[in-house]
Amino acid sequence: MDNIQMVDLKTQYQKIKEEIDDAIKEVILNSSFINGPSVKKFTSELEKYLDIEHVIPCGNGTDALQVALMALDLNPGDEIITSTFTFIATAEVISLLKLQPIFVDVDSKNFNLIPSEIEKVIGPKTKAIIPVHLYGQCAPMEKIMTIAQKHNLFIIEDTAQALGSNYLFSDGSIKKAGTIGDIGTTSFFPSKNLGCYGDGGAIFTKNSKLAEKIRMICNHGSKQKYSHEIIGINSRLDSIQAAILRIKLRKLNSYSFLRHESASLYSSQLKDINWIETPFEEHYSQHVYHQYTIKVLNGKRDGLKAHLSSLNIPTTVYYPKSLHKQPAFKKSKSGSFPNSNNLESKVLSLPMHTELNKETILHIVNSIKSFK
Ligand SMILES: *Cc1c(COP(=O)(O)O)cnc(C)c1O
Repeated sequence: MDNIQMVDLKTQYQKIKEEIDDAIKEVILNSSFINGPSVKKFTSELEKYLDIEHVIPCGNGTDALQVALMALDLNPGDEIITSTFTFIATAEVISLLKLQPIFVDVDSKNFNLIPSEIEKVIGPKTKAIIPVHLYGQCAPMEKIMTIAQKHNLFIIEDTAQALGSNYLFSDGSIKKAGTIGDIGTTSFFPSKNLGCYGDGGAIFTKNSKLAEKIRMICNHGSKQKYSHEIIGINSRLDSIQAAILRIKLRKLNSYSFLRHESASLYSSQLKDINWIETPFEEHYSQHVYHQYTIKVLNGKRDGLKAHLSSLNIPTTVYYPKSLHKQPAFKKSKSGSFPNSNNLESKVLSLPMHTELNKETILHIVNSIKSFK
C-alpha cells in the first residue's frame, strides 16, 4: 500500500471537482475577487449552520484570534489565560498585543484546559480565557463559562480544530463549538475540518456591538470608506476561498461523520494494545477528529514513529514542545505543567482525513502491531 497521507486533500477535491471548478470560474468571470457575492453568501450560510447572529470572515485563524482580542478594549499587561498545549497562534497574538499569556495545564485524557487550574491563576489583571477545542473535541465549556461569569472574564473559543462539533450542556441544550463564549474564532487552512484552498478564517459572536467592532477592525478600523475611527488591520477572506467554502460547508457534517467512522475503527482495532491509549470521548462533546491522536506508553513513541515512517506511514507529533517552554515565551509567568510535559513525549497523531478507507486503516493498525 503506498501513498498514505496525513491529510488527503487531492482525493477529496477529485470527488467535488466539477462543483469547485465552476465556483472558482464564476468568481474569475465576474472579477469579484474581493468582497464578492460568494463572501456574503458564505457568511450567512455559516451563520445559519452555527446558529449564531454574526460571522465575520477574515484572512486566517491567527488574524481571527488577534482581532477578537483587539475588540475587547484591553490594556497592555492584562492577562489572558490559555492552554500551554496548543499551536502557537493561540498565544502568539496575546503577546503581539502586549498582553500577558498565562499558561494553564491540560487534562491528560481530553487534552483540553483544566477548569480547576484556570481558577488558580485568576488574578486582578485577568481579563479573558481562550479555551482551545483541541484535536476536534470541545473543552469543558460549561465549567469554564461558570468560572468566567464568576470572575467577569471574556471567553474567546479557538475553534480552529473543532468547527462543526456540538457541545451538550447539562440541561440538554446543544450549541456549536465556537458559539458558547463571547467570541469564537476559526481557521479555514486547507487541512482544517472546513478548509479552503489557501488561507481563510472567521470570527463569530452573538453580540452586535462586538460584531460591529470586529468588522471595523478587519477593515482598517473603518465603517465608511476613508473614515477610520479606530486602528485596525486588513484581514479578508477572498471571494475564491468563500466560493470553495460554500461548497465544502454543505459537506461538513458528512465529513465529520466520515472522520468519526475512521476514528471508531482505529480505536476498536487498537484497544487491546496495552502500550497504546486511544482517544477519550467526553460525553459533552461531539468529537470531530481534526486529529486522531493516541498516547504511546512505555517510552515507545519515537520508536513507533520511526517504524511507521520506514513503512511509508506518516504520523505527526502535535505538539512536541509546550508553549511555556518555547523561547518566544521565555518571559511569560511560570507555572506547573506536569500533564503537558508528559504528553509531549507520548502523543502521536495518525493519518486522519475524509478519504481514509477501511483497508488503509487496517494496514496502519497492522503496521503498529508489527512494532516490537
Ligand atoms: C490552525 C490553528 C490556528 C491558526 O490558523 P491559521 O489559519 O493557520 O492562522 C490557530 N489555533 C489553532 C488551535 C490552530 O489549529
